Amino acid sequence: MIETQYIVVGCGIFGAVIAERIASVLRKPVTIVEKRSHSGGNCHSFIDGETGIECHRYGSHIFHTSDEKVWQYINRFTAFTDYRHKVLTVSGGKVYFMPINLKTLCDVFGRFLSPAEARKLLNEAKQDPAAARNLEEKAIALIGPNLYQRFIRSYTVKQWNKEPKDLPADIITRLPVRTDFNTDYFADPHQGVPVNGYFRLFEKILSDPRITVLYNTDFSTIRSQVRPGTKVIYTGMIDEFFDHCAGFLEWRTLQFDWETLPVRDHQGTAVVNYADEEVPYTRIHEFKHYHPERKIPFELNKTIICREYSRTRREADEAYYPVNTAANQKLFAEYREMAGEIPDLIFGGRLGSYSYLDMDKAIAGALNCFETQILEN
Ligand code: UDP
Repeated sequence: MIETQYIVVGCGIFGAVIAERIASVLRKPVTIVEKRSHSGGNCHSFIDGETGIECHRYGSHIFHTSDEKVWQYINRFTAFTDYRHKVLTVSGGKVYFMPINLKTLCDVFGRFLSPAEARKLLNEAKQDPAAARNLEEKAIALIGPNLYQRFIRSYTVKQWNKEPKDLPADIITRLPVRTDFNTDYFADPHQGVPVNGYFRLFEKILSDPRITVLYNTDFSTIRSQVRPGTKVIYTGMIDEFFDHCAGFLEWRTLQFDWETLPVRDHQGTAVVNYADEEVPYTRIHEFKHYHPERKIPFELNKTIICREYSRTRREADEAYYPVNTAANQKLFAEYREMAGEIPDLIFGGRLGSYSYLDMDKAIAGALNCFETQILEN
């Protein structure tokens, strides 16, 4: 039998933050059950033994937030570097800044444009973004059909394997559109990567001695050992919890093709996107660029890159992106209803809430869940 009154399933951001709150605020022991061999979920990073370069095992993760409460909370466990994410995109053999900003537009049109001229060009479709019913309509309303074809359409089809008109509009509003020369990827005031790495950040969050993490443990194998009345916070896939009885929720998975190259610098920046259909991968990550302040691996004549391919998730694959179509939302609502009928069970995090959460949103969700569903009960 597991003796603790609280069990958290999954040691990603949501699970680790909830466990930290239970341990430090309630001063209660808590057990985390994690099927992988490490903490941090998809934010996990490791130091490569050969080069000393910190790599993000599940693709690039850059911390960014506008939420002061989240920023204060996470800074208790780590300081952040002043890294600001810049992304380039290759289209038709040329390279442009992404998201679309005045520099992108000047490069596309081959001349200097004022912000007013840029606004006029962006509005060429003369459609109201608020009336858009799907990703394609939203993108065309925001940037016009030409830029949509050049930068968004093929990349989106590669990433989601769906027609953009069958995807929700809010996916594209993750990217700002700017008519100034701000080339940052994110608009948030707080940005960076943990000074000592994501793996150290999670060690710190989980350092309270009241927290026990059972690695390499699938919840299904210990489910019978949970005492009645134990509070279970489940951050795994909600459909898996219910043995897929109403059907499978659809996810995209990612495949990474890793390479260590005998050069100091492969692409000059951390992420380059590939907008063209003919290129099978969506982007290339080069991890040393997240830490230019780490002089030794940064100056080394070796670098680590990985090409990212987006795929339909099959059962054994990791789940990355929920495919938020109307049919999947309906299925998720059915599972939510089933979950609501089970006492002492809370679902949370990206997998448990079937949502495309950034790291700060996962922390905000966990802090809120602790305050409203654990502390007040
Ligand atoms: N997107 C695009 N071209 C790009 C980058 C993004 O079309 O070069 C679209 C694509 O539909 C993607 C969405 O914008 O799903 C959101 O991109 P974001 O970078 O936020 O996705 P993430 O980094 O979380 O994978």
